[in-house]
Amino acid sequence: MEINKLIENLIFYAKDELGLGEEDSIYAKNSLYYLFKSAPTYELADKVELQSEILIPMVEYAIKKNIIAPEEALNFETTIMGIVTPSPNLVINRFNELQISHNSKKATEYLYELSIKSNYIRLLDIKKNIRWITRGPNGDIGITINLAKPEKDPKQIQKESVSSNERYPKCPLCLENLGFWGDGKTPARHTLRYVPITLNGEKWHLQYSPYVYYDEHCIALSDRHIPMKIDENAFARLLDFVSQFPHYFIGSNADLPIVGGSILSHDHYQGGKKVLPMFSRPLRKKYNFRRNATIGIRDWYNSVIHIAAKNKFEVLQIAERVLKKWQNFSDEEIGILSYTDQPHNTITPIASINSHDEYCLDLILRNNRTDNEHPYGIYHPTEDLHNIKKEGIGLIEAMGLFILPGRLKKEIALMIELFTNQSIDFKKLNEDEHLSKHLAMVAQIANNEGLGLDKKTARDAIFSYINSACIRILECTAVFKNNTKGMAAFDRFMKIVQDSL
Ligand SMILES: [Zn+2]
Repeated sequence: MEINKLIENLIFYAKDELGLGEEDSIYAKNSLYYLFKSAPTYELADKVELQSEILIPMVEYAIKKNIIAPEEALNFETTIMGIVTPSPNLVINRFNELQISHNSKKATEYLYELSIKSNYIRLLDIKKNIRWITRGPNGDIGITINLAKPEKDPKQIQKESVSSNERYPKCPLCLENLGFWGDGKTPARHTLRYVPITLNGEKWHLQYSPYVYYDEHCIALSDRHIPMKIDENAFARLLDFVSQFPHYFIGSNADLPIVGGSILSHDHYQGGKKVLPMFSRPLRKKYNFRRNATIGIRDWYNSVIHIAAKNKFEVLQIAERVLKKWQNFSDEEIGILSYTDQPHNTITPIASINSHDEYCLDLILRNNRTDNEHPYGIYHPTEDLHNIKKEGIGLIEAMGLFILPGRLKKEIALMIELFTNQSIDFKKLNEDEHLSKHLAMVAQIANNEGLGLDKKTARDAIFSYINSACIRILECTAVFKNNTKGMAAFDRFMKIVQDSL
């Protein structure tokens, strides 16, 4: 029987690749036979490719036999993989064993590989993402058109930051997501596995992001559903994390809407390999405030203070002063107001350990004020850039890795076609559901390059527009602009920090 062979092959895969134990394999096998309503036979297993040779035919079988409806395919596939993935506590034990017998790098490698092999991270989908690197005046930036995750409106994020008590799980990060069946709003998480960690004496958990925006993209999340908060405790947790996992960086999104990430309602950090472009940038300016610490401004598009020292507490103390002073810093000449009817100044902090074994904090200064001219935020991408990116610029983008919405893939293809024509009907374009948002971009490219382009020229012109848009977006987020006036104001701020130390 076809399905029996698939079940046996899946069990073989799980023992071989996921480390499913002997007894657990028998147990999982019976669960699968029950799920598929099939009578077991003693089929021999073969080693075959998971997605194409096991999961796709299994899901097709389940649809054909009316075990599931076609729209349940993805959740059902996750259920199947959840049955054969080692149980949450077994994974935790293995992680802890590796941490003791080897080191934390070996332990994270195990969890990351398991997350891929269990299909929690759907590598095949992620490989479809379109990725490239572009040069800019203050360093390279990475750009990804993300075909795996939907785009969120900043106003929607603000709404969701008010937590709902009725919803289960309360948010996509809560611990209750472990094994969740998926309900349209929250994805199925049968294959999620996380491990407990202690950060600055508090209970947190560590897991990987299913979307892997960069190598080993991990998430540390508070055990409690409490809002994001940037304060000295957050800095202490971040530094504690890198002392336990020195091969990773970790950063937090800011704690205010517009400049924060997509989830403000649950305290969490994002980390992974130190591959983000900002890390490779030198310091533009150094300050000699302290003998035992390096303090300077990164040569980067937005406003980053870099602190490095052998002594963790030295870094912590300086960072705490920067935060306190920044929260109250206003400079009307360049439009920075720390308070109106609410606070506006906050920080996106990133911790790491550098090649000299020093503790580092990079503090990206942020401000989320809006005014009539900039209803989406003064230090947010201007409206002419929303066709490329409308979401808030969170930690990952602020460090130079852009995650652009998947809709762009189709829209770029349509625009290429458009530029091969001899003329463009702008009135019609204005009514087009896919292209009306790109009106200004189309007009500018047509103006610079002309029409009747060959496909390659059209494509190059579009990508070159996107590249410079991303650089402009990063520049929008700079509270101190990279010009004489901005840098003089940055200096004034650094003097205030110095005087407080
Ligand atoms: Zn939560």
